[in-house]
Amino acid sequence: MTETKKISRRELIKQGGLALSVLPLPFPLLTFSNFNEMTDNKIFDVIIVGGSYAGLSAAMALGRALRNVLIIDSGLPCNRQTPHSHNFITQDGEKPSVIAEKAKRQVLKYDTVKFLTDLAVNGTKTDKGFEISTQSGKLFSAKKLVFATGLKDIMPNIKGFSECWGISVIHCPYCHGYEVKDQKTGILANGNSAFNLAQLIRNWTKDLTIFTNGKSELTQDQTDKIKRHNISIVERKITSLKHKNGVVEEIIFADNSTFELKAIYSRPAFEQHCKIPELLGCELTEQGLIKVDTFQKTTVDNIFACGDNTNPFRAVSYAISTWGIAGVVLNNAMTEEEFLK
Ligand SMILES: Cc1cc2nc3c(=O)[nH]c(=O)nc-3n(C[C@H](O)[C@H](O)[C@H](O)COP(=O)(O)OP(=O)(O)OC[C@H]3O[C@@H](n4cnc5c(N)ncnc54)[C@H](O)[C@@H]3O)c2cc1C
Repeated sequence: MTETKKISRRELIKQGGLALSVLPLPFPLLTFSNFNEMTDNKIFDVIIVGGSYAGLSAAMALGRALRNVLIIDSGLPCNRQTPHSHNFITQDGEKPSVIAEKAKRQVLKYDTVKFLTDLAVNGTKTDKGFEISTQSGKLFSAKKLVFATGLKDIMPNIKGFSECWGISVIHCPYCHGYEVKDQKTGILANGNSAFNLAQLIRNWTKDLTIFTNGKSELTQDQTDKIKRHNISIVERKITSLKHKNGVVEEIIFADNSTFELKAIYSRPAFEQHCKIPELLGCELTEQGLIKVDTFQKTTVDNIFACGDNTNPFRAVSYAISTWGIAGVVLNNAMTEEEFLK
């Protein structure tokens, strides 16, 4: 069984000895799970920052290869508001947190893996590898780092949007399109993004309207093609989404007019959830993803990244799979280094 011990913020500050960072604690209080400050060593083979699907998958591979692994996770996966996760065989329709909890239980069966609920706030390079410091004032070192820190979706300035995000405002039709098929649906997007979404979503419903939230940036050719499929384009500015518990009921516009609908597709902007890879010199792609090779190696030696932070195909199964080969590559590199020492 995993040991879970809750301690107060006051106790934490006393134990950590260092001032807390200005970053807010993501959960009401930090929860130590498995990592025991009194007895556990703070030097690891690998530190994995991010302990959701990709991070846990990395830990499973490395823990089973007898690597001493620390997972540091702040408990804010991007799909946390979604009631049901789809399109991942054996787990279809399951609550995202249930999938993650099950994974965590399986990973923490291995005594080679420790889990700490905390926020990694800084990373530095040292002679022997890296140091990672956390919001609670702890300092850990490791020869190699894995960032499985995901992406942070940036909510637009529309009241009610964030409450509906992942419930009735949907990022991906493959994950949630079936559940709202044939429903009266909106696409909140403009320009090429609106055109591409219209083309795609029409597969799930023909009752579609595009909301550009301001002047349309669609080309005349795109507009003609969209209209051929009886999809209207609404350019009015949106102020809010009226909803019940995240289930959208209508769009409310700046001129106080309204539009009833059942679901909205939107792909908001995103940023890296964790800035430490950039601080350590990892390059990003033009899209803002961490640049990796086919083995998930970043542009900085001994730093790997996997999951959403490295790829645009956001899906639980994909996040898990990105670690498959990389785990072997990382462990093979360590075995070679040790053998040839
Ligand atoms: C609204 C929504 C609904 C979705 N629905 C589905 C679906 O139905 N089916 C499907 O297959 N996919 C779905 N996805 C995609 C899926 O959720 C992601 O692909 C998956 O969560 C990516 O896993 P990850 O481990 O890379 O990142 P995440 O799951 O986002 O986890 C990243 C983890 O890193 C932690 N972290 C970040 N920075 C730090 C730090 N500095 N210190 C410590 N920890 C840190 C975070 O707290 C988090 O726990 C959905 C996504 C969204 C946004």
